[in-house]
Amino acid sequence: MKKQRIVIKVGTHVLNDEDGLSVDRFEKLVEFLAQAMEKYEVILVSSGAVSTGYFKIKLDKTIIQNRQALAAIGQPYLIRSYNEFLQKHGKFGAQLLLVSDDFDSRKRTKAARDTVNALLKHNILPIINENDATAVEELIFGDNDQLSAHVAHFFDADLLVILSDINGYYDSDPKKNQNATLILNVSKISEQKLREAADAGSTFGTGGIVTKLKAADFLLNNNRSMLLASGFDLTDAKNFILEGKHSGGTLFSPKKS
Ligand code: ADP
Repeated sequence: MKKQRIVIKVGTHVLNDEDGLSVDRFEKLVEFLAQAMEKYEVILVSSGAVSTGYFKIKLDKTIIQNRQALAAIGQPYLIRSYNEFLQKHGKFGAQLLLVSDDFDSRKRTKAARDTVNALLKHNILPIINENDATAVEELIFGDNDQLSAHVAHFFDADLLVILSDINGYYDSDPKKNQNATLILNVSKISEQKLREAADAGSTFGTGGIVTKLKAADFLLNNNRSMLLASGFDLTDAKNFILEGKHSGGTLFSPKKS
């Protein structure tokens, strides 16, 4: 039977803490990826190049060109870390650097899809990041949320899993409102919700909740699903992916008609 295909996206906050790569979280993440690879065709979209670069050399991150340089410095270290840890599970990964234009061109999308398919056929983990040297959208706005939604759609995945510093989508920002409640299932995102999320703002360089909602909205409109779950505690993501149980995290999925 053909394996289902999933995209797993991991954000900067999950990968790094103040001292660099969070080895404990990284180890657990890679173990989860290896387990998921037994059951699914897995594509990883990983942020974290800029902060990895910053641990090597302290360039001023507020300058966009420096962020591009830091991404160029950090990316090979990040991939090396993935491969070091994947190796413990008898697996390895490959790097693909993409930009949104790659999804505007049928020829380029096909070439990228062919590469991904060839890697997956051999049980190799494609590790995708934005090519920050030639495109800066995700570096400024999205922390790869948008890119991962495009990857899921154009590379024909059944599900995108966003592993975040938050364990799901709440009815209001849980950092500001103690009584915020987690929403388990979403089948449609209204214009108003998107606007509210945009108004809530976000810290420079990361997407906050708005880019995640936009990613979910794009996938719902294309009849695909997305799970937003914690990358700090992988219990919910593991339950969903490995056990088929929705114990937590927000599942954005189109209503079956
Ligand atoms: P990551 O870096 O893990 O991809 P971000 O930090 O960019 O994630 O975005 C998640 C943050 O968005 C949360 O930590 C939370 O403070 C904020 N946020 C704002 N509104 C909401 C909401 N309605 N539900 C969940 N998180 C929200």
